[in-house]
Amino acid sequence: MKNFSGLFPARLVRLLLTFQFFLVAFLGPALAQVTPPVVEKFIAQIPPGALEIGATSYGPLDGQIPVVPVLRDAELLGYAFITSDFVGTTGYSGKPIHVLVVIGLDAKLLRAELVEHSEPIVLIGIPERKIKALTAGYSGLDIVAEAGAGGSGHDLDIISGATVTIMIIDDSIVRSSIKVARALGLGGLAPDSGDGGPARTLNMDDLEKSDWLSLSGNGAVRRLTLDVGQINAAFAATGDARAIDRPEPGDPGEVFIDLQTALVSVPGVGLSLLGEAEYNNLGDWLEEGEQAILVMGRGRYSFKGSGYVRGGVFDRIQLIQGDISVRFRDRQQRRLGGLAAEGAPTFSELDLFKIPSGAGFDPTRPWRLQLLAQRAVGAIEKRYLTFDLEYELPERYLAPLKAAPGGATLVQAAEDAAARAELWKRIWRDNKVEIGILVVMLAILSGVFFFQVQATKNARAFYWFRIGFLVVTLVFIGWGQNAQLSIVNLMALGTSLINGFNWDTFLLDPLVFILWISVAVALLFWGRGAFCGWLCPFGALQELLNQIARFFKVPQWRLPWGLHERLWPIKYIIFLGLLGLSLVSIPLAEQFAEVEPFKTSIILKFARSWPYVLYASVLLGIGLFVERFFCRYLCPLGAALAVPGRMRMFDWLKRYKECGDPCQICASDCFVQAIHPTGEINPNECLSCLNCQVLYQDRLRCPVIILKQKKRDKLARSTEQSSAALDRVIGNKTQEKGKKNV
Ligand code: SF4
Ligand code: SF4
Repeated sequence: MKNFSGLFPARLVRLLLTFQFFLVAFLGPALAQVTPPVVEKFIAQIPPGALEIGATSYGPLDGQIPVVPVLRDAELLGYAFITSDFVGTTGYSGKPIHVLVVIGLDAKLLRAELVEHSEPIVLIGIPERKIKALTAGYSGLDIVAEAGAGGSGHDLDIISGATVTIMIIDDSIVRSSIKVARALGLGGLAPDSGDGGPARTLNMDDLEKSDWLSLSGNGAVRRLTLDVGQINAAFAATGDARAIDRPEPGDPGEVFIDLQTALVSVPGVGLSLLGEAEYNNLGDWLEEGEQAILVMGRGRYSFKGSGYVRGGVFDRIQLIQGDISVRFRDRQQRRLGGLAAEGAPTFSELDLFKIPSGAGFDPTRPWRLQLLAQRAVGAIEKRYLTFDLEYELPERYLAPLKAAPGGATLVQAAEDAAARAELWKRIWRDNKVEIGILVVMLAILSGVFFFQVQATKNARAFYWFRIGFLVVTLVFIGWGQNAQLSIVNLMALGTSLINGFNWDTFLLDPLVFILWISVAVALLFWGRGAFCGWLCPFGALQELLNQIARFFKVPQWRLPWGLHERLWPIKYIIFLGLLGLSLVSIPLAEQFAEVEPFKTSIILKFARSWPYVLYASVLLGIGLFVERFFCRYLCPLGAALAVPGRMRMFDWLKRYKECGDPCQICASDCFVQAIHPTGEINPNECLSCLNCQVLYQDRLRCPVIILKQKKRDKLARSTEQSSAALDRVIGNKTQEKGKKNV
């Protein structure tokens, strides 16, 4: 394929790169300001009566945490706060979603109100009242129950098309409310044990190994020992005659259990106890934000028991820290062969247990390992006692934390990051099937592109394959999953780059994320066509409608080349306009991004006010006569993808030297007029439909092949004639010889 080198796109590339440079280099640092606490701003805007909980006034802002007392005359009803003051609430737009929450003294929510956001999905058509009503539905939520259930004690209502926004609102309301309730001790929740004390983080730089004696001495390994006499005394103290009648046999001084534990995800402790190789294995096993403890046991009582074999849960131990408790399942456990620390004793049980990142565990604060000792008191009845092994990481393995900007500490930032990571992982887990289908689609498409010669050999089969693929793109990716990429995504990416890029925000929508990653990779190989030609639901909708129109013999208009060439830059101008506008005002740019009819036709499936429906219908209507009219001349996303697509590494589409001169068949057959009359394919306009590759091998339509075939036939005929002539000559000679012999 010859390289198209039109002047206009080359200038555009330079212009866009300059824009990007200014955007990132100059405006980035200037705009990267930290959002100040916001509760005062909104409290000033919302009169107490508007809360509809009988409030008459607000008290002064609390001196310790950003909450405002809500009063009915002199009676304290609860506290008002904005979620963003406590947890990260960055939405799909890259900006915070502010929700005002009023929490009662019993830790039940009295009010939740969405007060400000910049979410494009909402701006573009899902009625805001729907999101507001859903947010208001959090009134009555019991935060004590949520704290006990790790924030998942309630059902989540999802509004189609706004999944990410809703999940962020839900997560931020619940987590911030738990924080406030704990900090104020509402509903009997205990304040965070670290409050008031200096904030700490794990010391990840201390890699020095210590022997067993030092680890036991400095408190990195803690111990609970019970002998037979002690356990018998403990059961005797319960006064339960059945338990007293069944004492543990043996010498009272014999060890019942020697239970020891250590936080081995801290390098100084883990390297000492596990050794380098095992510690590295542990690092591979743990995911971001996860911690691990080592539990060591010996004596006649097992801390594992056998219950985990049946139920998968270790029912004799649990980790407790403040209000949170972690019970370990078999998938969170790994057996350890031996201890690496010099002088370590031998244990009959050595197990590593993983603490999930979403559990709310803070390794810098004290915790306890609770042991459940059981005694059979009947045929199937048991009596239980608990014993606590207290643990606190020694000072040596902790490092001080600097206060983060805006008053938040790095601990809060780390907690936020862990919670966000947990959120997107949950979304990915919940969408396994959809992700699988998309990955299969991408694998099939990659196969078609890599083996395009074979794929396009049979014109009819390839036509129906393409139609089928477009139907799946429209129905599954588009209408089913709302995973329509849009220029709004690129603007969100730009905002995120300016305000501090955060992977978590983009990972919240798995299908859109996978599509963008695959588009980025495809741009390197095939240009914009892999997406525009195959994976864009609106593109598919236009093409399928046009195919139906053709079936009903709707006449097709082919624009004169001169006009076509002058119209296609319009999309680049629209793209540049939106890019410039986004530098001034993102919400304004998002509204102008309505030039894309994607939300109307794909996300909202035409359930929208009539001007939007009319606009989308007009574009689709024109597309019945001019195939892919919107893609060719107006689409800002298509323009945005065309620019980096020019840098692709290969020219995959095969051409003959006769293409364009004199043959014009491909050029006149290209559905988006991407082939110049001179034969070159314009990669900016090509949508990789591969029709020209079908023609490239078409024995009935491609003149080059027909000519080659004719030559081959002629050669075959002349070879046939020659051999016939030769046969005749040989035949004659044989006859002559025969006559002579006669
Ligand atoms: S040009 Fe726009 S509408 Fe057309 S396929 Fe590409 S992204 Fe979709
Ligand atoms: S027919 Fe046109 S759009 Fe399709 S692959 Fe060939 S040049 Fe690209």
